[in-house]
Amino acid sequence: MEKLDIGDLKDMKITELAKKAGLALGLRDLIATDDHMRTSDPNIFACGDCVSKVSFFTGKPSPLKLASIATMEARVAGANLFENKREKSGVIGVFSTIVDDLVFASAGLSEKEAKDNGYEVASGQIEKPNRHPFNRQVIPTGL
Ligand SMILES: Cc1cc2nc3c(=O)[nH]c(=O)nc-3n(C[C@H](O)[C@H](O)[C@H](O)COP(=O)(O)OP(=O)(O)OC[C@H]3O[C@@H](n4cnc5c(N)ncnc54)[C@H](O)[C@@H]3O)c2cc1C
Repeated sequence: MEKLDIGDLKDMKITELAKKAGLALGLRDLIATDDHMRTSDPNIFACGDCVSKVSFFTGKPSPLKLASIATMEARVAGANLFENKREKSGVIGVFSTIVDDLVFASAGLSEKEAKDNGYEVASGQIEKPNRHPFNRQVIPTGL
């Protein structure tokens, strides 16, 4: 096993560190884990942006890197530390943003992504009160 100086670690990318530790990398050159968030070393779990992911909908490699996904993976890893209790599923993107007083939000695949992946798509429009804690007074129209 390669010995690393602690000074080398602080500026090293996590995936670089994983590679040096001999962990298998997966999709998009990120750390590969099984469905229990265990890496190729049974004593090392990984979760978050450094871990490769697949889409919940398509099963294809996903570029999503979100705190919501990282925390889901962390909960799965925590639950499985001593015995396998939980499995991760594929990832789902949930986004929202605000421009002036207009809120835009989306969850899951975009219409284009759905069509590109062979889903039959029905689309509609809805206006609902905004329950986001930072901008409760705004009515979203971009759903
Ligand atoms: C501008 C921006 C906006 C975002 N907005 C959202 C949002 O609205 N909603 C959402 O869900 N997600 C959002 N994200 C994504 C979210 O921040 C990440 O998905 C999430 O932080 C990933 O968590 P993590 O613990 O995997 O990685 P990080 O939060 O990046 O934590 C990794 C930690 O490891 C440390 N580290 C790295 N290398 C080493 C080393 N060699 N030794 C020791 N420590 C090391 C880093 O300093 C860092 O503290 C946003 C990201 C950005 C950049």
